Amino acid sequence: MQAENKDKSKIVVVGSCGIDFTTYAPRLPLPGETLIGNKFTTSFGGKGANQSVAAAKTGGNVYMICRVGDDLWGEKYKEHLKNAGIDVTNAHVTKDTTTGIAQISVADNGENQIVIVPGANKHLSKSDVENAKELIKTADVLIGQLETPYETTLEAFKLNNGIKLLNAAPAMAHIQTILPYCTILCVNEPEASLLVNFNVNVSNIKIALHKLLESGCQTAIITLGEKGAAYSLKSTGECVHVFGNKVTAIDTTGAGDAFVGALASLLVNDKIQPFHQLIGAACEYATMTVTTEGTQTSYPGNYIPFTKKY
Ligand code: ATP
Repeated sequence: MQAENKDKSKIVVVGSCGIDFTTYAPRLPLPGETLIGNKFTTSFGGKGANQSVAAAKTGGNVYMICRVGDDLWGEKYKEHLKNAGIDVTNAHVTKDTTTGIAQISVADNGENQIVIVPGANKHLSKSDVENAKELIKTADVLIGQLETPYETTLEAFKLNNGIKLLNAAPAMAHIQTILPYCTILCVNEPEASLLVNFNVNVSNIKIALHKLLESGCQTAIITLGEKGAAYSLKSTGECVHVFGNKVTAIDTTGAGDAFVGALASLLVNDKIQPFHQLIGAACEYATMTVTTEGTQTSYPGNYIPFTKKY
């Protein structure tokens, strides 16, 4: 269920939608082999949509700019976003194209194989940004990722006058041109490693954050899975590691997206300050999502706590 929306600040997400088709089998098939599996699930995914849903479920007033295909899934996805309380005026259908999909195989030992077909996500273009110009300009928080064309996200970031939050995922090395437009850059350890050119872990996190700030963003955040998240602010030089709650993780899929979506909602909620408190609350929300199976289905609604001192 969606949290009550008291704050009318606008969160705009420019990003991807995708359907995850997941098969579960005792092991992964060898090339050319057919295996009998024991479970099949279909679920709503895609980083942009995941982050939109997380932002909406934490009380955000969310608008999504995206593309779906003219197959069975396109209209279904728009309906799903609408039901989550997200404005889909700028969710468009691309003709003769499939909605983005991920075909996922999971073995009993947790190993997986994934094939992603971007489909309509590839068609999210600068003209979609142009058509939503006023909305993008006036967004209080604009969120982008890298599952849709880079040039489109860059164009949107150039227009916006608010907080620009880039989740540089999936990992991509050449994103230097967008970093100076980023108020906040949020990455996990492998994504950070690619950007700074060394293996990032807790022991060298300060050096990594410093290097990310040097590349042009104003705030850098590195999420650290069960170890929470660390951030650094260019304005104060402050560098802080915030530890989240300890839980037994069941399924961490989409935890990073839950963190980003919740962070956006928290950024427009002036009651949550200072910044380490905000990061603590985003960790708190993301951590709740790893305790149950699924991606968007694991994101809790009506989330109010945010009271613990970090
Ligand atoms: P994913 O790709 O699985 O969506 P990610 O790699 O982008 O996630 P992580 O750094 O793994 O991002 O996790 C994001 C946030 O989720 C962390 O900062 C943390 O708050 C929470 N989290 C993830 N895994 C765990 C865990 N095992 N225990 C507690 N919290 C977790």
